[in-house]
Amino acid sequence: MLNVARTTCLVVGGGPAGLVLGLLMARAGVEVTVLEKHADFLRDFRGDTVHASTLTLLDELGLGERFATLPHRRLDRAQVQLDEGLVTVADLSRLPGTHKHIALVPQWDFLDLVADAAEEEPTFTLRRNAEAIGLLHDGDRVAGVRYRDRTDGSEHEIRASLTVACDGRGSAVRAAAGLVPRSFGVPIDVWWFRLPRRETDPAGGVGRISGSQLAVLIDRGDYWQCAFLIRKGADAEMRAAGLERFRERIAGLLPWMADRLDALTSLDDVKLLDVKLNRLHTWHRDGLLLIGDAAHAMSPVGGVGINLAIADAVAAARLLAPALRAGGIVPRSLLWQVQLRRWWPTALIQAGQRIAHRVAFGGRGATASTPAAGTAAAGAVTGEPAPVEALPVPLRLLRRFPVLQGVPARLVAIGPLPEHAPTWARRAPLPVRG
Ligand SMILES: Cc1cc2nc3c(=O)[nH]c(=O)nc-3n(C[C@H](O)[C@H](O)[C@H](O)COP(=O)(O)OP(=O)(O)OC[C@H]3O[C@@H](n4cnc5c(N)ncnc54)[C@H](O)[C@@H]3O)c2cc1C
Repeated sequence: MLNVARTTCLVVGGGPAGLVLGLLMARAGVEVTVLEKHADFLRDFRGDTVHASTLTLLDELGLGERFATLPHRRLDRAQVQLDEGLVTVADLSRLPGTHKHIALVPQWDFLDLVADAAEEEPTFTLRRNAEAIGLLHDGDRVAGVRYRDRTDGSEHEIRASLTVACDGRGSAVRAAAGLVPRSFGVPIDVWWFRLPRRETDPAGGVGRISGSQLAVLIDRGDYWQCAFLIRKGADAEMRAAGLERFRERIAGLLPWMADRLDALTSLDDVKLLDVKLNRLHTWHRDGLLLIGDAAHAMSPVGGVGINLAIADAVAAARLLAPALRAGGIVPRSLLWQVQLRRWWPTALIQAGQRIAHRVAFGGRGATASTPAAGTAAAGAVTGEPAPVEALPVPLRLLRRFPVLQGVPARLVAIGPLPEHAPTWARRAPLPVRG
């Protein structure tokens, strides 16, 4: 039998955008239901970075002290190891505000923290194992979704005044609404794999660029989450070349990792990230808004996707919660306002990522400016400072005028339009839970 429920704001997807939106809507006193297709947040790697602007937001929401108890690592400057030597490209100590670093936290810990805080609000409901499979309509207006309970396969309907798609880059809601994002060509894919981390290894993130080869290592305590950039579509060819060839490439690029490459026992341990960069022209329909990766899939360059998705959620909550609380239908003009506010920071960052993609396979400069490609202790890797005359002009400028290292730091760690918690969502520091 088909069960029908009702809520005011229905959020599809319990990722960073969906859970932050759920928390804020609940704090506004809006009945909100988040549907998440998985049972938990512990799944494939989807990024670790919590940027300075999001750390400030967590403080405003009263969650800063709880966040501080999560096991995390700090990235306070970004350096890359070029063949010519070590280059500092971003110095986060130059950031304004209290948070002068990027925190590296497993995404599932971060999502658990936000979900726990949301569940303290009486108007919040999180339905796990609930996969949206279609839209409900009242005339032309989207009026909720149909979803499948993945524990028993039963189907249900949930109706809502507003549905917000936060179901990521493969958004089922977006497809059901007939919306197709514009894709930008991307010359790279990423191979993801893990390698053991030793106590004597550097902490934080490690970037390594040599010729057209680029690797980023993210410190996860006892292992490295490794990203190795490959040419778009080269996955099959590289797999055919075999494991030994790949180990040789890694050993050539990162000689200090050569002692543990036998931990890679098969190329099945190496996962392909099909890098996508796209953006919807219109982020809404009547009764429906799309935010986060569902509206704009980001490249992993710069590690900005999580923070951008969260910023979308904050802007959406601030602009839409008052209308939802008043019990009315959210006018299309308000949905436009959300898009207008979040479109230009998204477009700006995507433009930067496209430049970085081009440079990554044709040179070195722009890739070097991404904290995801940085290292907190890269001196421990191999490096002597690079001789100035060997560097491309932007890197020379960063070396000669260290004050400029604050610019890339600010662009990535704070972003072009940081969003702050509305006053009704703010709380004094909440007690740390046992
Ligand atoms: C391998 C990889 C590495 C990355 N590294 C970084 C990084 O270091 N830093 C960074 O900032 N960004 C990184 N990103 C990008 C980042 O993960 C995304 O930009 C960000 O998670 C987007 O958040 P979101 O909430 O919009 O979507 P998502 O995080 O994709 O969340 C979508 C949620 O919706 C759920 N869902 C999907 N379909 C349905 C459905 N039909 N019904 C119900 N629920 C559904 C999913 O299970 C998921 O929980 C990385 C991405 C990948 C793939």
